[in-house]
Amino acid sequence: MSLLTNLAKVQEKIPTGVKLIAVSKTKPIESILALYEANQKVFGENKVQELVDKYEALPKDIEWHLIGHLQTNKVKYIAPFVACIHAVDSLKLLIEINKQAIKNNRVIDCLLQVFIAEEETKFGLSIEELQALLESKEFIEMQNVRIIGLMGMATNTLDEEKIREEFRTLENDFQIIKSHYFKFNEEFQELSMGMSGDFELAIAEGSTMVRVGSLIFGERS
Ligand SMILES: *Cc1c(COP(=O)(O)O)cnc(C)c1O
Repeated sequence: MSLLTNLAKVQEKIPTGVKLIAVSKTKPIESILALYEANQKVFGENKVQELVDKYEALPKDIEWHLIGHLQTNKVKYIAPFVACIHAVDSLKLLIEINKQAIKNNRVIDCLLQVFIAEEETKFGLSIEELQALLESKEFIEMQNVRIIGLMGMATNTLDEEKIREEFRTLENDFQIIKSHYFKFNEEFQELSMGMSGDFELAIAEGSTMVRVGSLIFGERS
């Protein structure tokens, strides 16, 4: 089956220590199940409703990552089960995640999304906004979210040098944030960057989590 061949080809290029998140958005339950049976247990979705539907239909030991933009009013639907929220881009959102995590008696792993691309459409925080968030009283008092690292998306371009530069910027931001705010915190160790078109570049620049969709599942229509 080509799905499994695709998975194996991607896995070959991923060193140990880097987590592969198979991005299954728009793809059917059967495809996810086929990969699950081949021992791929980590999947990413970018829409809340689709994530909830797939969570309900599939084995409960799947580790589900929400990788897309998240609206505050939808946090409650995923808080009971989500393993990691990648695109946290405001204090307001983090406050809501903490609140819903408390309700579910959980601690939820989150990544803060940093803006690194050229396009204005991509969500994310600037380094100054990131620092303001991490220094806020609300954040410091939060008990039920765990910031495990940073996430970013490079510009959608064929210019490899530009992509590499953006990943380098994000890696550099990671080091700065780590040394200022998480120096003695082992949990802050993840850098979520890299997709089908650029995951090898991302790994070369320090990524620890790659989010790969179309290379495994085929193009989305
Ligand atoms: C869709 C998506 C991906 C995967 O994209 P591919 O190019 O299909 O690998 C990765 N990250 C985010 C945030 C996405 O929305």
